[in-house]
Amino acid sequence: MTSLDSAGSAGSTAVPERGLLIDGGWQPARDGRTLPVVCPSDGRAFAAMARGGAPEIAAAVAAARRAFEDGPWGRLAAVERGRLLTRLGQAALDRFEELAALEARDTGKPMTQARADITAAARYCEFYGGAADKLHGDTLPFLNGYWATTLREPYGVTGHIIPWNYPAQMFARTLAPALAAGNATVLKPAEEACLTPLRLAELAQEVGFPPGAINVVTGLGEEAGAALTAHSDIDFLSFTGSPEVGTLVQTACAKNHIGCTLELGGKSPQVVFADADLDQALPVVVKAILQNGGQTCSAGSRVLIERSVYDEVVAALAPRFSALRIGPHDADLDCGPLISAAQRDRVAGFVDQARADAIPVLGAGTIVADAPAGGFYAAPTLFGPVPRTNRLACDEVFGPVLSALPFEDEADAVSLANATPYGLVAGVWTRDGGRQMRLARAIRSGQVFINGYGAGGGIELPFGGMKKSGHGREKGFEALLEFTTTKTVVFNHG
Ligand code: NAD
Repeated sequence: MTSLDSAGSAGSTAVPERGLLIDGGWQPARDGRTLPVVCPSDGRAFAAMARGGAPEIAAAVAAARRAFEDGPWGRLAAVERGRLLTRLGQAALDRFEELAALEARDTGKPMTQARADITAAARYCEFYGGAADKLHGDTLPFLNGYWATTLREPYGVTGHIIPWNYPAQMFARTLAPALAAGNATVLKPAEEACLTPLRLAELAQEVGFPPGAINVVTGLGEEAGAALTAHSDIDFLSFTGSPEVGTLVQTACAKNHIGCTLELGGKSPQVVFADADLDQALPVVVKAILQNGGQTCSAGSRVLIERSVYDEVVAALAPRFSALRIGPHDADLDCGPLISAAQRDRVAGFVDQARADAIPVLGAGTIVADAPAGGFYAAPTLFGPVPRTNRLACDEVFGPVLSALPFEDEADAVSLANATPYGLVAGVWTRDGGRQMRLARAIRSGQVFINGYGAGGGIELPFGGMKKSGHGREKGFEALLEFTTTKTVVFNHG
């Protein structure tokens, strides 16, 4: 293996070049092309990834098909699949610091966040490892003389396209349920961050996953990603990323007559009523937007505040924002850099427009003076009051920007919470039990937290979108069902 570390890049661990994992072996792209792996903390390339495309995707899909139809993987009992996943989770924990350092360097996220991510990745493997042999069909009442039963079967070959914000977690979140259900998989990580998926795939080989069960093809979205979605021998596809690419993915799946799950982000509200326990609520409100620098699909990016306490709440939130410090991943501050120059520029576009629209800045963090030049830093910013029709109140920023909006009463709170095209997660802060229940029902989102907020984590909890946040569910037992199809078998026994 070639070490591609470049002197001076933030962090110091040498990163081996692994290439593409196809049929249990590592190989370069056929034409030898690579893409740089850039550390967002200093903007410098410190490794390279293979630039796979259509030929490598075709080889990976063929390997997965063989593994499912003929290979040892397709014949493994559910309990054995579960054991392999459990071993992979343990292998990740055994290399906890190594994986966390790799994740932090590849994404720029602070070490504390990277450690939490590796814990979660291991937890996905444990959860689905334990669930693999608890998936079963039913016996159904039918006509006299018949015995009707259903089998829960894997689709066969599943494709997985993941984003850059949580590479290790996303690897495990999408692959573990698919593998537990018995599918053979082809993963396309994001071109911005792919190192922990590659390392976890390597650990999967070490703990005994047979060739072809897990294939990983790195490369560009429009090359490797598009080739995977268009491939006619994929049986199901799981996608997490932008709404624009989600449309392309679903169109490609429609052409192949296969199903998909889409997780496309959100503009999630945190609703604070006047009777809320503010001491409990405010730290969570801040964490829900700052986690991972706001680059979280379920980030709580709107705080909706009952008008009678609006001034009090924003006055308490503002200094929390002003006290934030932003720096390189290994400084482990409140926030790291954003993933790329493009993402930093996208976030800056929102911030500049909000300032041009004369929306007051209530508080903003500080980028530390010794943050490396060339890093992709953005200061977390609290804006308010944000006009309801302003794009800052409606569009996903995917950065550390929180919009504060006042509301009048419970009905207005519901209407405002539901006022964006998205519906992924919501938080509601109130001591009123009846209101808790009414809002839990009235808010149109895949998850509602009462007196809390859960961005990321929650492996046991079904997660996914309503409205334009997408469809299908990840996490929990429901994800296992997503990666299976039902076969009905009817015996005529007379
Ligand atoms: P993206 O949708 O372009 O990329 C996500 C994944 O899709 C990557 O693996 C990428 O390689 C792949 N991809 C890109 N083009 C493809 C294509 N034509 N066919 C198949 N796969 C393709 O997202 P992005 O450009 O990295 O981020 C843009 C915006 O998307 C962000 O600012 C944010 O708003 C949103 N986003 C959301 C999530 C989420 O968790 N919901 C994650 C990342 C980004």
